[in-house]
Amino acid sequence: MDYDVVVVGAGPAGCLAAKYAAKNGAKTLIIEEHASIGSPVQCAGLLSTKAIDACEVRPDKGCHPITGAFVYAPDGRRICISGGEIKAYVVDRRLFDRTLAENALRSGAEILMRTRACGIATRGNRRILHVTIEGEPDVIEADVVIGADGIQSSIARWAGLGTFEKVLCGAQVNTVYDFDCYDCVELFPGSCAPGFFAWAIPYHESARIGLAVRPTVTPGSDPGPESISQSQSQSGSACWHLKRLLSDHRVVSRKCLSGMTGLVMGGIPIGVLQRTAADSVLITGDAAGHVKPTSGGGVYPGAVCAKIAGRVAADAIRDRDTSARRLYEYDRLWRAEIGRELAIGKRINEWMARLGDSGINRLIRVLDDDELLDLITRYGDMDYPSVVLRKLLMNTKSVGALLKLAPICLR
Ligand SMILES: Cc1cc2nc3c(=O)[nH]c(=O)nc-3n(C[C@H](O)[C@H](O)[C@H](O)COP(=O)(O)OP(=O)(O)OC[C@H]3O[C@@H](n4cnc5c(N)ncnc54)[C@H](O)[C@@H]3O)c2cc1C
Repeated sequence: MDYDVVVVGAGPAGCLAAKYAAKNGAKTLIIEEHASIGSPVQCAGLLSTKAIDACEVRPDKGCHPITGAFVYAPDGRRICISGGEIKAYVVDRRLFDRTLAENALRSGAEILMRTRACGIATRGNRRILHVTIEGEPDVIEADVVIGADGIQSSIARWAGLGTFEKVLCGAQVNTVYDFDCYDCVELFPGSCAPGFFAWAIPYHESARIGLAVRPTVTPGSDPGPESISQSQSQSGSACWHLKRLLSDHRVVSRKCLSGMTGLVMGGIPIGVLQRTAADSVLITGDAAGHVKPTSGGGVYPGAVCAKIAGRVAADAIRDRDTSARRLYEYDRLWRAEIGRELAIGKRINEWMARLGDSGINRLIRVLDDDELLDLITRYGDMDYPSVVLRKLLMNTKSVGALLKLAPICLR
């Protein structure tokens, strides 16, 4: 088999990269190791309206609209950030990813399911992908391979593009929860989810309750021999915290019915790869760390970057130059588009992680003010948190309190 572009992974990033490569004239193939697109789900499905636009799909009646958020401090005080307009939708990622795959097909890309990339080699200025198709070994030749193969990207590793500084571990259950308002998500920063936060997200009549935590060994358990993989102990830690959230948290345990209808687990990369282009290889989406460090949301940044990857790959093939130097245009373009925002998000993530319960209590107490809540509602943007941060730093009421918290953040 011979293609201009082979995209590894049929998640949102892979489907959009393929769509843009095909639209720009490249003969494009997506390979996906699973038998069904969008499964297993590793997502809460909360997508900003901007993310849905970036994915070039229209929200249908299956999508659950979200207008705002309640943020709970560890001491129980809560603030409401809501302007009444739809800011986001909660989607079924299986259906969502399938729509993106169909859009890629409509643009001319092909898809091979149950096809797993097992290795990569170089022949001249082309790449040979060693794959198994339905378990049988085969090879696919391509001018450019786009690695959209998620957080554990083999393509990035094989191309020598490194890995992430930090990976948070996420765990989530689907269950029933007594929301005060079914248009609002509930967020719980603090020690219930060390290093990140917990969430309760409504989806029609049901709920997705989850959290992500910084990598640690399962609290209270023996770290065990070194042979226990780091990821096992990390997912154990997320599950341990999730169990405690559901059984002991002052708000969640009261509103959540016991029992669940589904469990989702997965890693969230924090920080982007230093390089996302090599000879005949581009890396995009979670595989490149295109994830907002403030929320763990990867669909929006992944979509923005994947479309650039698809276009640059097609252009480079047309110019008959798929060297790392030429493909580096992709790296430059996505960094110009969202690199700064992701870097600021990483800083915010680090500051929040250092605040501790008392710092978060103080922060929420300060923000619990009509003028500041109005400012957050007006300028808050799930995808660009730096905008509201700048506004808060320019506001006389909030800047003093934020500066008082600075020593803790900078510790
Ligand atoms: C608990 C949790 C909750 C989350 N909630 C949200 C949320 O609410 N909103 C949001 O925007 N983001 C959320 N995310 C992040 C989001 O799920 C990811 O950022 C997004 O799915 C990344 O898309 P992607 O296309 O880069 O990778 P993926 O969706 O991971 O797709 C990668 C694909 O590559 C395939 N693949 C991997 N290796 C190979 C191989 N060797 N050969 C062939 N195929 C391969 C995989 O099977 C997979 O289909 C959440 C993550 C977690 C863990």
